[in-house]
Amino acid sequence: MGELQKPRGTRDVLPEEASRWRLLEDRARQVAARYGYGELRTPLFEVTELFRRGVGEDTDIVGKEMYTFLDRKGRDMTLRPEGTAPAVRAFLEHNLGAGPQPVRLFYLQPAFRYERPEEGRWRQHHQFGAECFGAAGAAADAEVIALAVDFLRTAGVADFRLRLNSIGCPACRPAYRAALREYYRPLLPLLCADCQERFGQNPLRLLDCKVDTAHAAGAPRTADHLCTDCREHLQGLEALLARLRISFDRDPTLVRGLDYYTRTVFELESPRLGSQSALGGGGRYDGLVELLGGQPTPAVGGGVGLERTLLALEAGGAPAPTVEPPQVFVASVGEEYALEAMGVASQLRSAGVRVITDPLGRSLKAQLKQAARAGARWTVILGEELSRGVLVLRDMAAGVQEEVPAGELLTRIDKGVV
Ligand SMILES: [Zn+2]
Ligand SMILES: [Zn+2]
Repeated sequence: MGELQKPRGTRDVLPEEASRWRLLEDRARQVAARYGYGELRTPLFEVTELFRRGVGEDTDIVGKEMYTFLDRKGRDMTLRPEGTAPAVRAFLEHNLGAGPQPVRLFYLQPAFRYERPEEGRWRQHHQFGAECFGAAGAAADAEVIALAVDFLRTAGVADFRLRLNSIGCPACRPAYRAALREYYRPLLPLLCADCQERFGQNPLRLLDCKVDTAHAAGAPRTADHLCTDCREHLQGLEALLARLRISFDRDPTLVRGLDYYTRTVFELESPRLGSQSALGGGGRYDGLVELLGGQPTPAVGGGVGLERTLLALEAGGAPAPTVEPPQVFVASVGEEYALEAMGVASQLRSAGVRVITDPLGRSLKAQLKQAARAGARWTVILGEELSRGVLVLRDMAAGVQEEVPAGELLTRIDKGVV
């Protein structure tokens, strides 16, 4: 047996990078809280049927990309490939539709897809997602988009583009699908193998072809086939985004790969990422709750990929977030005070202060150097003054120090550190 390695398409996050992740996750939680979204945590795996019905049999996700397995009792299970279907399942299972509407949920969680791994595309990736149930108006679409945009801005992603489209509703989409088929029928022999299949199953996805993009440019546009309600919804959303100063590009070829979307679809992308340029996206899915067995419930959601966000930050040259520096370095003059230093450090930590000490028995000069390098705000120096119940407190920024009665240390630090 060879050396054990992580599965292909997965990553390990080591402590330095983990601090970036934590920062990103903190930002996501802060932004979600500002918009009134509560955190939802669903299981890593669900019954496969949920995704078959919720995501759609004809999608790449369900057809090719799911991690599906039988458990020991032979039940068909799947590692969650996306977050919306599980959120809808939880919404229904806990009867959240019976409470005050809308119901606003967010999640920070991994999703699993068996895709060909490349930079920015992993078999386990992490999503910050938000779902809003029970609001049919464009204000909810605008809210979800604003939340995603806010997250990227707060995270420090400088330049990204919002693409927006409406793919219509059950009233107007059949006519649009017919128009698309009519346009593509003579081109059928020229299309790629995937598109040959899509032509019959879901012609909207022909617009999404990555193999030959030329055909899509001349294809009938959704905007020309929307019913009055869909057109008004889109116009309402555009007015709201303008009011929120969120710029966007209308993209008539944007359809997204999931079957459940109605009306609004959007995608956020970074010009700094290569072939995997999408940072996130989402859309409205007014039919999904009913499809999964609930009362008809309008809903809209979106998500941002955390790996892609980190890549965009890196590519944009954003300064790496630093690990929070210690507030206090506890130094000791000579071996005999080292024990005392551990005691003082312990006391400060109990009070919630971030403290480091020197475990190597270095000289005071070396310890002060170390404290400065670590970015400590204060250095506490323990030496012969202790016999008088006094220690030395050095303000590292100001470069000044004074004697402080041992009993007053915490008060002094608390005042300075706040
Ligand atoms: Zn419509
Ligand atoms: Zn194609």
